[in-house]
Amino acid sequence: MKTALITGMGGQDGSYLSEFLLDKGYRVVGTVPDEDPANIDRIRHLLDRVEVVQDDLLDQDRIEKVFHDHRPDEVYNFAANSVLAASFQQPILATMVLAMGVTRILEAIRKIIPKTRYFQASSSEIFGKPAEVPQSEKTPFHPRNPYGVSKVYGHLMTMTYRENYGLFACSGILYNHESPRRSPEFVTRKITRAAAMIKLGLAKELRLGNLDARRDWGFAGDYVRAMWLMLQQPQADDYVLATGETHSVRDLCEEAFSHAGLDYREYIVQEAESFRPPETAQLVGNPGKAHRVLGWKREVSFRDLVRTMVDADLEVLRTKRPN
Ligand code: GDP
Repeated sequence: MKTALITGMGGQDGSYLSEFLLDKGYRVVGTVPDEDPANIDRIRHLLDRVEVVQDDLLDQDRIEKVFHDHRPDEVYNFAANSVLAASFQQPILATMVLAMGVTRILEAIRKIIPKTRYFQASSSEIFGKPAEVPQSEKTPFHPRNPYGVSKVYGHLMTMTYRENYGLFACSGILYNHESPRRSPEFVTRKITRAAAMIKLGLAKELRLGNLDARRDWGFAGDYVRAMWLMLQQPQADDYVLATGETHSVRDLCEEAFSHAGLDYREYIVQEAESFRPPETAQLVGNPGKAHRVLGWKREVSFRDLVRTMVDADLEVLRTKRPN
């Protein structure tokens, strides 16, 4: 039986990947940063089938102890605060976890179990202000925030351990990937939850920033399958994981609200606080290499993703309501 270690198991991707690997017969061990019960909300239904350990990736000895104790065959690194705004507020902490955390894990692998296969959750934010559209594995890096800068570091360190130490270490350059487990700081979930609340009479409006902003949005469940595929290849490599298409925030609103039987134009209020500096070029990934080499294709369309999220939000709110 193979053992997988997932850092940041309680996040969206950690929870989907845990389910995926359990189905494949893996023993799954995961880390959470601290005792906050919110860390296990998304994996509560798995707690009798996975092992959870506390580790925040700030302490090398502790990381090495986890490796000694569990000797994982595969390691997936999701430990991060993936909300961009938090990396502006706490850039030093973000750097310690997002950047230094990668080196700590790679060092532990190199020293303790060098045959272990490593997946680094890299990000489209490494392209920030992209030199070309769409972006591929060859597009130059141009991050625009502390999160993106730390992700560039993690990406390059993963490559360095692959090239210099021969580790099986891969980066998946992940474009936005969403699900009913996405936290509501992200615009997708903010919109699907608001559509459900308005439908049920629990809210009257939705305050948003730029409706013309566009993103390459896929389903998180499709992306964790690609991550696993990357670690099953004969050679370690980096791959863009994306849908290759973009939609606007307005498209998202239209899809979500119409699925709930509503006209979004009646409920959206644009507010200055949610506006960000204008984006000069679009972040959209070219997933051609993942298609070609991994045989990976996403299975969930934008439309189905948004509809599933609205249905899940309606379900949660209905079951929570007193009557
Ligand atoms: P990320 O910026 O790609 O990590 O993902 P988000 O889901 O936070 O934002 C996606 C896009 O939606 C960005 O271009 C935002 O400018 C835009 N957006 C518009 N209104 C909002 C809002 O109210 N909240 C958030 N989070 N994003 C918004």
